[in-house]
Amino acid sequence: MTELLFRNDAYLTSCTAQVLEHLDNGVVLDRTVFYPQGGGQPGDAGFAEGPGGARNAIANTVYAPDRTRILHLFASSEALPAPGDQIRLELDWERRLAFMRIHTALHLLSVVLPFPVTGGSIGQGEGRLDFDIPEGGLDREELTRRLMELVERDAPVRERWITDEELDANPGLVKTMAVKPPRGAGRVRLVEIEGIDLQPCGGTHVRSTGEIGVVTVTDIEKKGRQNRRVRIKLV
Ligand SMILES: [Zn+2]
Repeated sequence: MTELLFRNDAYLTSCTAQVLEHLDNGVVLDRTVFYPQGGGQPGDAGFAEGPGGARNAIANTVYAPDRTRILHLFASSEALPAPGDQIRLELDWERRLAFMRIHTALHLLSVVLPFPVTGGSIGQGEGRLDFDIPEGGLDREELTRRLMELVERDAPVRERWITDEELDANPGLVKTMAVKPPRGAGRVRLVEIEGIDLQPCGGTHVRSTGEIGVVTVTDIEKKGRQNRRVRIKLV
């Protein structure tokens, strides 16, 4: 098991860690600040500094097939740190912060458009959600204005955990049909945007909506009779 330090503090940019093993071209550590690709969000990139001070780029971070271990994929397979080595991880923070801003903005988009979400993705400075919406008539400027109202409230964003039973008792919490909250661990992580939104999510978020900054709805695309793809972008 890898300890997921980003789950408790998404603003940690570095940590020390011990190499546990090499697996499927990846390096498994006892702890990490690197978010593994999942829930529509890309995996983190950055650097690892080995015992001799050598810095090696980490190109991506993914879950191992068993989902309990995280694989740090180094850009070069030469000079990988060995099992037992103590290394220092350093996140490409600018890249991650952009993902966190978009990710949190997508939570707000799901409030502005209170319809079931069927898919979504987070990119560099932009993202999208697909909605099951019975009728069209959405206005880009109106949606942008309502999104920015929520950003400007600068509402705190917090995480807390509930039991599987509490989630079962509140099915309305689950907006995203495409990404079911992880079950079986006995508890589910909820992300609350104070006074605005509450939903299960395992991702990384900014501390308050004001940190999203200026965001704009760039496109509303019809993907099917009842499906609208809404794209947003950081300005
Ligand atoms: Zn989230």
